Amino acid sequence: MRFKDKVAIATGGASGIGAAFVRRLHGEGASVMIADLDAEKGGALAAELGERAAFRQVDVSDPAAMAALAQATADTFGGIDVLFNNAGIGCFGETPDLDIEQWKRVIAINLDAVFYGSKAVIPFMRQRGGGAIVNTASASGMAADYAFTAYNAAKAGVINYTRCLAIDHARDGIRANAICPGPVDTPLLVTGVDAIQGLRADWERRVPMNRFADPAEIAAVAAFLASDDASYLTGASIPVDGGLTAHTGQPD
Ligand code: NAD
Repeated sequence: MRFKDKVAIATGGASGIGAAFVRRLHGEGASVMIADLDAEKGGALAAELGERAAFRQVDVSDPAAMAALAQATADTFGGIDVLFNNAGIGCFGETPDLDIEQWKRVIAINLDAVFYGSKAVIPFMRQRGGGAIVNTASASGMAADYAFTAYNAAKAGVINYTRCLAIDHARDGIRANAICPGPVDTPLLVTGVDAIQGLRADWERRVPMNRFADPAEIAAVAAFLASDDASYLTGASIPVDGGLTAHTGQPD
């Protein structure tokens, strides 16, 4: 019960890694605000969890909506201790072919929203004497994928923005860290991957552990970073990738 009497917000909390994080924190005693565009899945998860869970439909790329989310969470549960900035989208395209509006949308959801969410919750965390922000970056922010231009750039931005948050707010008692997942078995990844025959097996072969992660394995690390177990850990970006970014690419 590491999160007894704590209040957490999880963006992208209706699906995949975000939903696994919601389940984990709720199971360890937190009150959880699920924030997502998807009202059907988000509402169903909040209803399933019952007491200490609520859903709010939010577009994370809208700064006013993020400010309203923070206020609504504090009004509902009495404060804010944890923010999981996790909502994200992907998009293919090499630079000459990538539509400018697509670039802007990926940067808005994957990077700008991390700033909007953090900006909105820090005053509430200061009122509590501290807090923890966990940002979902990616292995694709530590190295690059072919033709995943905007996503790679956004996730690298999340990693360095997390360092800014960490050093600027260490004296407020607010810690900020990022997780860098490799391939995870969620709709964001597998919808595209499973549409191409053989791609999943090829990808799994390149991960030293030879498999995609289960979302709960990523959520467990995010929960650790959000908890007091990580009380001296701030500004870090932790690969949770089955060894992917430890590998040089040397053929086996
Ligand atoms: P997912 O598709 O299961 O979940 C993403 C959630 O974000 C969805 O519920 C979606 O509705 C929500 N969302 C999308 N745009 C939104 C918006 N504008 N406002 C509010 N909510 C929005 O995918 P996932 O894999 O769980 O993704 C979670 C995070 O993990 C993302 O930031 C993603 O980039 C990152 N990530 C995923 C993988 C992977 O392989 N799946 C790897 C590394 C990083």
